[in-house]
Parts: sequence; C-alpha cells; structure tokens
Amino acid sequence: MSFDYRGRVNRLQELMGERGVDVVLLSVGADLPYFTGYEAMASERLTVLVVTVAGTPQLFVPQLEAPRVKPDGFEVNAWSETEDPVRAAAAVASPQRVAVGDHMWSVFMTRFQKHWSAEWIPASEMTTELRMRKDPEEVDRLRKAAEGVDRVMARIPAEVKFSGRTELEVSRDLQSLTIEEGHDAAEHAIVGSGPNGASPHHHASDRVIQYGDMVVCDFGGRWGGYWSDSTRTFVVGEPTAKQTEAHEVVEASNEAGRRAAVVGATCQDVDRASRAVIDDAGLGEYFIHRTGHGIGLEVHEHPYMVEGNEEVLEEGMAFSVEPGVYLPGEFGIRVEDICVAGVGSLNQSERRLTTVA
Ligand code: ZN
Ligand code: ZN
Ligand code: ZN
Repeated sequence: MSFDYRGRVNRLQELMGERGVDVVLLSVGADLPYFTGYEAMASERLTVLVVTVAGTPQLFVPQLEAPRVKPDGFEVNAWSETEDPVRAAAAVASPQRVAVGDHMWSVFMTRFQKHWSAEWIPASEMTTELRMRKDPEEVDRLRKAAEGVDRVMARIPAEVKFSGRTELEVSRDLQSLTIEEGHDAAEHAIVGSGPNGASPHHHASDRVIQYGDMVVCDFGGRWGGYWSDSTRTFVVGEPTAKQTEAHEVVEASNEAGRRAAVVGATCQDVDRASRAVIDDAGLGEYFIHRTGHGIGLEVHEHPYMVEGNEEVLEEGMAFSVEPGVYLPGEFGIRVEDICVAGVGSLNQSERRLTTVA
C-alpha cells in the first residue's frame, strides 16, 4: 500500500496559507520522502521540491537521478549538468516568506538567498505537525518493524554468544539477525558491555565481553521506510543483587512511562512518570537523558518525551519510552519500547533481565 502524497501536500499548503508562508523548499532529509515518496541523494547536485501555496509542487532533480523518481502528485524537472538548478527552482516563485527543510545544505540555501530577499523560517515548524501524527499505514509499518526486532530479541539468548567475544562481533550478529527478520536495513546496533554500558550512546567497541557483564543491546533499522528501535539489557551468567535490583527499577520505570503515554497526557507527563520511579529508588542522578523521542521516517523526531514539553499526545503519535540508569565505571541498563498513543507498546519482547551465555 502506498501513501496519499498529494493529500499530505494539500495539508501542508493549508498550513502555509494559515502562516503566510509562500514557498516551502525541501531537499535532503525525511520531509521530502514524506511528501513525495522520493528520498534525495545527499550530494553536490541539488534535489529540491518547491511547494507553493497553491498548485502542483515542482521537483528539481539531477537528470541522472530522474529515472528513480516516480511522480505522484508533483511534477519532475530534470536539470542537466550545464544548467543552474537554483536559478531554475527560484524562477518558480517570488516569495516574501520561505520555509526551508532542516537539512538543506547551506551551499544551496545561500544561493537561493541571492535570488530571493525573503524571510526564512524552518519548514519543520509545519512538517513536524503533520509527520508527528501517524496514519494507520504508518503505524502498521512501525508495528512490522517493532515485531521484527522483537523476534531478534527472542532469538538472542539461544543464538548469540556474548562472553569471550567483542561488542563489535555481537553488534554485527544483531544487525544480520535484524535483516533476517525482515528489515530493509539494519541501521544501528549499540552493544555496551560492563562499564561501556554506562555511556548511553556508546556504539560497539573491541572490548571483549566478560562473564558477569551487563550488556545493553539497543538496535533497529528500517522496514518500509519506518524505523524500529528497541533496547533490552542482558546479563552474562548470573546477575549480582545490585544488577538485579537496578534492572527491576528500570523495568518498573519503563512500565510507568508506557502507562502514562495515553492520549491526552503531555509528553512531559511520560517523562515524569518514568523518572519518578528511578528517583524514588534513589537512582535519579544516574538517569541522564530524556525518557524518549518520536520515531517514524527518522529514528529521532518529534515529539520528545522530556520535561518542559507540554505537547499533548494525540492518537497515532509514535515515540520511544526508554528510561535507563548509568553507573559510571560499572554498568548501564536501559529498557526501550516504541509506543503509539491510543495503541500502546508496539514492542512486546521479554523485558525482565535475561541471562545470556
Ligand atoms: Zn539515542
Ligand atoms: Zn534505541
Ligand atoms: Zn531510542
């Protein structure tokens, strides 16, 4: 099933009308595929969609990449190697107010600014409003992605050997299992063993995993364009009392966050619910990041589950609930699920501390 790209453009054009925006320029990044189904190659050759308040959007694309474009609610303008795509795209309108995609390269933006003396704002002020609220097909893809990583999680205890192997070796195993379980691409596979687990964005190193290590496994990829992202923390062999207790706290915090993530709650309510459990256990100072991030065509997008974000959760908003504790020099623990407001958790794999070999 495909998406109603023209319908999405129509909603963007409505927002543009309301906010007095004459032109939206979208280049590399996830906004362009959201409105066209086409993902631009990030290169010195400009790809840009010019959306005006009314009429059909115009995509300017390098001639050699044009065969990959399937026009669906927009027109394609292929530019040749000797043409100036900025001049051609700028000729479409003479705007007073331009909204530009977050990832437009400054080398192109500064050239547009020579053609147009306009006020410039980030297009994400409008595009996030649309992308944050997932339609049923998007939720379905997120669910398929989540189910894929759940199957990988379930296979780990029996199929992935940890002790005596490096984090990188385990990380590669997780990525190939993610592909085996139906993802188009395995994008990240954090393996943080022992003290490395205490660094939340540690990737994977040549550290050899030891008996007794806690190991944070946080991985995901894309299924039909939509991301999975889940974390479970395993223990190699028998856990200590301290490891078991800390894990129980994080599990309870994850559950509290998921329960709070209902339609009508605010994003900060979710963060507060998760954080309260860890605070009450006396581990608050070791929970050093927000509770979650939105997810969709990007692995981190709006809405963010963080103190101060009073955005109200609506049906179809998709985001992670991923509390953790990070004890410097010792170990880290994180339990992460993708939730959809009005639906619940898409991830259902075992959350309790599980022993691996
Ligand atoms: Zn992260
Ligand atoms: Zn993650
Ligand atoms: Zn995440």
